[in-house]
Amino acid sequence: MPYYLRFVDAFPTVQDLAKAPEEQVLKLWQGLGYYSRARNLHATAKIVANNFDGQFPNTYKELKSLKGVGDYTASAIASFCFDAPEPVVDGNVYRVLSRYFGVDIPINSTKGIKYFKELAREVMDSGNIRDYNQGIMEFGAVQCAPKKPYCLLCPLQESCIAVKDGKVSELPLKLNKTKVKNRYFNYVIPIDPENNTILEQRTGKGIWQNLYQFPLVESDKNLKTEELKLLIQGNGQLPEYESLSLYNNETIVHKLSHQHLHTKFWILKTSYILEEGTSWKKIGDFPVPVLIADFIKTFKI
Ligand code: SF4
Repeated sequence: MPYYLRFVDAFPTVQDLAKAPEEQVLKLWQGLGYYSRARNLHATAKIVANNFDGQFPNTYKELKSLKGVGDYTASAIASFCFDAPEPVVDGNVYRVLSRYFGVDIPINSTKGIKYFKELAREVMDSGNIRDYNQGIMEFGAVQCAPKKPYCLLCPLQESCIAVKDGKVSELPLKLNKTKVKNRYFNYVIPIDPENNTILEQRTGKGIWQNLYQFPLVESDKNLKTEELKLLIQGNGQLPEYESLSLYNNETIVHKLSHQHLHTKFWILKTSYILEEGTSWKKIGDFPVPVLIADFIKTFKI
């Protein structure tokens, strides 16, 4: 709630959000994770302000043209807000449909996504779409729950195929696609005699796009001091150090949805002034990932 209030306070209209610099949007989002949502929200505000005359679109097709809005979100907004006959298919709906109709096509396969969308359209109540969509999602969350669904007390029990075939616990089927990747991050925090440091902006695709961080040396395993020194010597990107020491003896494992970041923070002291440095007093102004924000909070310069 505090995030929401700060956000609408800073951007009371869609035009305000559209005009804002991205860094301000990311800074207000800092700590919520899923930064692509902030970037998409910002991009969408620009589309709404510039292409739709500041009016939020109300058809499925136009909604899908917004940044970060896929089939699920477009269907949900079109049906909840504008009564458009569009079936919503989220994880709960997949579960209800796959169990009730006994469908064993993986819900995250191309074939499954198409099949369940068509099935959902076939069985939806077009005349009462708002209640229907919210009802089936709620039914999946509360009654036909992932574990221990209440089949005994279910009004659909008599005609439910999964119950008849004894497959309730097997359905829905899902392809196991995502494997967690382990990455090893060494953040090197340069500190000069005037307490300046270096912050860099992350560019390109991948995690934390456009957020700021300390210079990063990524390795294929946890590093010891001597190993990091060797890497830094050949790197050429970091300032020359007077001393280099590990800040956190225990590696921090920062868990994202598909990645575990094994993180060490290293303090690199220089004997000279960093020309392009940022004053430590100012680093609070930059949008940074929560991993970096936590370090900044605990580190006493
Ligand atoms: Fe779900 Fe059980 Fe009801 Fe079938 S009978 S729809 S599996 S809760």
